[in-house]
Amino acid sequence: MSEEVNVIIGHLDANGFLQNSELHFSKGDFLKALENAKAALQIENKNIKACIIAGRSATRLKRFDESYYFYKEGLKIDPKNKIIAEELIDLQKILLDHFDKMGIEAKEQDYNAVHFCSQDVYPEDKELFLLEKEILETKYKLENRLPSMIVDPIKRKEAAQILMKAHKIILAGETEDAIKQCTIALDADPLNITARQLRARLNQEKGNIEQSLQDLYAIPKENRSVDIWKFGGILLHQLGLPVHAEFWYRKATTLSQMKDIEAAMMFQKVRAERIYGPLTINYPIKVNFTKYGRSIFATKGLKIGEIAFEDKPVVLGKLLQYKDISACDHCAASLLTPAEYFGEKYMEFNPPLRSLIKEKWPKDESVRCSCQRQVYCNAKCQNEAWEQYHQIICPNKNVHAHALYDLHDNAGYGLNKDGIREEIWVPQYSPILLARMWAMIVMEAKRLMRKNGLSQPTFQHWAKAKTSLRKFIVFGKSNVASKLPEVFNMMREIFSDCGDGVKYEITEEEFNARYYQATCNLQSYSSSLSTPIHGLLKNLNGVNGITTMILLKLTKEEPKVATFAGMFPLHASLNHACDNNVEIIDGLVDGRPGVYVRVFRDLNAGDELFTTYIDTTMPRKIRRAWLFKSFNFWCQCRRCQFEGDGPNICTNCGKYAQEDKKFQHCGKCKKAWYCSLQCQKEAWVKGHIAICQLQHSMVNPKTIDTDLQDR
Ligand SMILES: [Zn+2]
Ligand SMILES: [Zn+2]
Ligand SMILES: [Zn+2]
Ligand SMILES: [Zn+2]
Ligand SMILES: [Zn+2]
Repeated sequence: MSEEVNVIIGHLDANGFLQNSELHFSKGDFLKALENAKAALQIENKNIKACIIAGRSATRLKRFDESYYFYKEGLKIDPKNKIIAEELIDLQKILLDHFDKMGIEAKEQDYNAVHFCSQDVYPEDKELFLLEKEILETKYKLENRLPSMIVDPIKRKEAAQILMKAHKIILAGETEDAIKQCTIALDADPLNITARQLRARLNQEKGNIEQSLQDLYAIPKENRSVDIWKFGGILLHQLGLPVHAEFWYRKATTLSQMKDIEAAMMFQKVRAERIYGPLTINYPIKVNFTKYGRSIFATKGLKIGEIAFEDKPVVLGKLLQYKDISACDHCAASLLTPAEYFGEKYMEFNPPLRSLIKEKWPKDESVRCSCQRQVYCNAKCQNEAWEQYHQIICPNKNVHAHALYDLHDNAGYGLNKDGIREEIWVPQYSPILLARMWAMIVMEAKRLMRKNGLSQPTFQHWAKAKTSLRKFIVFGKSNVASKLPEVFNMMREIFSDCGDGVKYEITEEEFNARYYQATCNLQSYSSSLSTPIHGLLKNLNGVNGITTMILLKLTKEEPKVATFAGMFPLHASLNHACDNNVEIIDGLVDGRPGVYVRVFRDLNAGDELFTTYIDTTMPRKIRRAWLFKSFNFWCQCRRCQFEGDGPNICTNCGKYAQEDKKFQHCGKCKKAWYCSLQCQKEAWVKGHIAICQLQHSMVNPKTIDTDLQDR
């Protein structure tokens, strides 16, 4: 923390900050107003006035997610607060204005995720490709193409005639005989592509995948049509050779000039299956590709309360507002101390009580990195962090990295290019998270480089090093690097020297891509299931006596834990629905904080699992506006389909009410409006029944990021 801030905090209490905030607000300096309100909340987190002014300032700054957050915090203190209720209505109005301008176009666009998915060859696929090739050649005896030859025109004609006959036989349903005719035709003219294609189809119908494929392989590459490439993809997939299947589907897609959506979809399905197959093997789910992108489906019926799957983060970082709560920087485990938990009264406890706490409190094995800027729950976490990323961004090895931890400690505030102190990092999560993504890539590239005895990573090494982050989609349009120039330059500097003469050039494109990768995928979670208080209670089990009784009474309060944001590879494939059927809760995965995806409504085998990215208690129009603004999509979930926006339009048939009239709403949920009883009945049967009067889950939200578009 910089000195300047220390001085201020040393002199002001919550009220002082609040007064400052009000002053700045009245002068129109909303950033300063927000800053001071936040400082007041740091000291006194139940200060409703501070919540309100923080919310108002954030709205003025167009940081709607933040203002919503502060208003919600305020409502936790006083659920009936009139000012907040009014402010929320205002906020919704602003959001809708913003949305009306942009949402209409989105509504009309036909969305298909396949347009956004690349068919890049994965660098590590080269070896897999060769391995599959060997199987194709040895096990299935598949040689590429026939020797070149010239076929006598008479034979060609003969073959064509036999083929006509074969078609007639097929119509009569005699598959076996038709195959024979194709064979006779091909004996006469081995270059007849139609005969090969036909025999391949017939063989596939009979389940002779290998023979079928043999015919396709015999067709020279330059003569293979889009359909042949696509067909080959299907066969190779059936044989369990996904890398070759992808190769054939890719050919079909490029040959059709990206117009064959089916081929592109099949490509992504194979890819999803091979990447996620190993991750889902122990869970009753599978990842598939649909028009909305990767999606997760139940492979058996699941009951409410069941855990569908667990997930652990690939990258994680604290949310900045929790920066002062002790936790392991590598695994997010709580490092709560007795003094932190019991507060000032801890020093007043009598000696027997204090010694009992000391004795039974889980042993503190925490260690600090020699740079003093990262703390770990134990040596194992320290080693892992060091090996996976920290040595690239440890200020002891990389002097440029000090700035990164300063930025974290100052909650995103720093000097801008004109030397003025302001918020130079806007997201809620720590910028360290972003730096770790690059540090992980660099570490892996350097490892591969050393393994190959080289002094610089090759292009292939860099490509391979990015593998672990590939599961996370990237979606975002604006140029963030230009909106966060100080942080962009900071990262460029940090990675300009990664040790051993290696550098990693953070281009604008790279900065934007990783920024959006984090933004689209981050999920908040914490170690709420495994704090030292849990350890203490466990250790007190079976210990009797009056001191224990007193201590048990003193541990009733939930401990404060730091909320982290993490990128979870499997969870990242969950899509949103406003009637979500799973919810994300804190979990303990392999002994470390992670997430559980818990069933919230019963699921049948084959049902898609949906989480929610937003607070589902909001009305439809606001939900859609919110989702559109933060996640760039127009929600078409079942609930959005069977709820309306107001009494002027029939939710079922779309008819407009006459000027001075209003349609009647559904008496149960009041969220759908109908022109007639007929329409109400129809809608009920079609789907309203399933979403009328839903229960809402209110657990861990997705880490919604502040929209930088308005900056
Ligand atoms: Zn740890
Ligand atoms: Zn360090
Ligand atoms: Zn929806
Ligand atoms: Zn109607
Ligand atoms: Zn209803």
